[in-house]
Amino acid sequence: MPGLLSVSFHLLLLFKLVAPVTFRHHHYDQLVRTLYKVHNECPYVTRVYSIGRSVKGRHLYVLEFSDYPGIHEPLEPEVKYVGNMHGNEVLGRELLLQLAEFLCEEFRNGNQRIVRLVEGTRVHILPSMNPDGYEVAAAQGADSSGYLVGRNNANGVDLNRNFPDLNTYIYYNEKHGGPNHHLPLPDNWKSQVEPETQAVIQWIRSFNFVLSANLHGGAVVANYPYDKSLEHRVRGFRHTADTPTPDDKLFQKLAKVYSYAHGWMHQGWNCGDYFPDGITNGASWYSLSKGMQDFNYLHSNCFEITLELSCDKFPRQEELQREWLGNREALIQFLEQVTMAITSGCCFQVPTLSLPQHLGLTQRQ
Ligand SMILES: [Zn+2]
Repeated sequence: MPGLLSVSFHLLLLFKLVAPVTFRHHHYDQLVRTLYKVHNECPYVTRVYSIGRSVKGRHLYVLEFSDYPGIHEPLEPEVKYVGNMHGNEVLGRELLLQLAEFLCEEFRNGNQRIVRLVEGTRVHILPSMNPDGYEVAAAQGADSSGYLVGRNNANGVDLNRNFPDLNTYIYYNEKHGGPNHHLPLPDNWKSQVEPETQAVIQWIRSFNFVLSANLHGGAVVANYPYDKSLEHRVRGFRHTADTPTPDDKLFQKLAKVYSYAHGWMHQGWNCGDYFPDGITNGASWYSLSKGMQDFNYLHSNCFEITLELSCDKFPRQEELQREWLGNREALIQFLEQVTMAITSGCCFQVPTLSLPQHLGLTQRQ
């Protein structure tokens, strides 16, 4: 019996050691609890705030990491991650919760890389932009055939087709002259967008974000602006054509930072598609109007890319750990670019993770 007790004790100890990292899907109340748990564990370098509410009244909570949470320090860049804009694309939501726990733990452990990041950058994490859609998708669960269930918000609107269309202005200005950045919002913009979109636009306008990523699923590729091609629709068909921004080199570099630090994105073959280097110009893949990444760039000069992170939009719980390990380095390196790439034109590193290729269904954003 003493032997058995000792084994039980060791199992208990092992469980305690591995318990903090839990790879599971989080409903809204669990998501909120996780954000506050991280805040309680790292109270001096985090802050939880809400940028508004969804159609059904759920808060759009953000967790901020900074050495002075809630305060903008001169020359300290602001950066953001947005997950779960499509309610049925859930991996980004879980990865951002893992990232929040990871940043807090590593900061507490004195990991110099994370300490540098938290002290030099203000990181804002919005794990779910569409909490209403998520609950609909989660009720259906993984392994379902309802491919689009929960994608839209509670009013049935696709939030990544809901931002003011500033591309039309920029394409006109490129031909005829006029500003090519900080384009103003239309006067009646609030009446044209959903509550979730309005909250995010006001968020973008209240912080001087310089770098951002929007986490989706349905493919594995890093997608950079423009998303909308010059001739978006030609005779009823979508006109797909490579449509670079004036900052194309930097956008490609940022996309490659993510794809090469990711476990398998850079290999190019994923989910039945091939993207050289694991990156693509949005409009050359398929043209999309009123998307969030073009809006960020044209309205605020925030460099946002769209990360497609999994073939399955709602991966099974057992896959979450492998996905976290495949994305962890990339999520950190991307944040580090806010000081490396944007301010000094430097440098992405060789991939540090090499995991087997993810096989799944052919799906799109
Ligand atoms: Zn999506």
